[in-house]
Amino acid sequence: MTFTAQILTLYPEMFPGPLGISLAGRALEEGKWTCDTINPRDFTTDKHRSVDDTPAGGGAGMVLRADIMAAAVDFAVERMAAVIRSSRAQSRDGVGGESVSTSLDTNGEGALATVRGAPDSVSPEPVQGRLSLDRRGSTSSPLTVSNPQHPPILAMTPRGTPLTQARVRELASGPGVTIICGRFEGFDERLFEARDIEQVSIGDYVLSGGEMGALVLLDACIRLLPGVMGASSSGDDESFENVILEYPQYTRPQIWEGRIIPEVLRSGDHAKIAAWRKQKAEEDTRLRRPDLWERHRDAPDQSPSGAQEKDKDKE
Ligand code: SAH
Repeated sequence: MTFTAQILTLYPEMFPGPLGISLAGRALEEGKWTCDTINPRDFTTDKHRSVDDTPAGGGAGMVLRADIMAAAVDFAVERMAAVIRSSRAQSRDGVGGESVSTSLDTNGEGALATVRGAPDSVSPEPVQGRLSLDRRGSTSSPLTVSNPQHPPILAMTPRGTPLTQARVRELASGPGVTIICGRFEGFDERLFEARDIEQVSIGDYVLSGGEMGALVLLDACIRLLPGVMGASSSGDDESFENVILEYPQYTRPQIWEGRIIPEVLRSGDHAKIAAWRKQKAEEDTRLRRPDLWERHRDAPDQSPSGAQEKDKDKE
């Protein structure tokens, strides 16, 4: 199934951006994932199309309005549900290819998404972007924000839970993700009270907007989608996959500026190489990331992947 990425952003031109080239770009061309943007500005009602307002209680900057952002989120939920319904219908009916197209048409009365199915697969079904599926109710399998089957809705914020490889793996194994990008001072907190939204941070630093975070998150997911990476590099033995960091890597030339690749890696003895890598991975994690090392010690079953043999070891 195609992984569906929806991004709520005031800067839709930033997508797919760097994800349009290399590994992710090829996967996009091959239909392994789709990238659609929704602009919260299309859900405004005033003539200035304002999405933000001054912070309650005073202070610098502007805050993204809960009502506007929620309207865009509800539209995204509808759209994602329609995409998934259509994709399920296609696999049921054995119809292949891309068949759902959505368009956002602002007419002052509210945004309208028109979802069209492939001929003979899904009947055209207009959905009202401003209504949540909950309020519309009734489909045979309602995919609402509160339905655990609904793909997660994430908001980029430094106040969120730090993103981990484990979470990335979970997201990549699902049907898709909706990502809300903040700007200015961030979001009106009531958005998170009123909608089921996971707040995600990509690190302890402040960006000017959530778009870079969304690109980071999507890049991490896309490389894990089936068929995106080469068969020999499943990603299973990389940093964080087994809690700790990866062992150091080397490649030709064998001697560079008087530095020689460690002898063990040139020995051809795979057991020895695996043991060396395990030891290096543990040593580096202990020194560079004591936080990870502690977690690794608390979960002793997760042996460092440095002990695994890799095709590329075989010269
Ligand atoms: N006033 C906020 C920062 C706002 S930065 C605060 O101090 O918490 C503007 C937007 O950039 C945020 O709404 C968020 O979407 C994005 N952003 C900034 N830093 C981020 C981070 N570390 N992780 C994820 N998103 C981030």
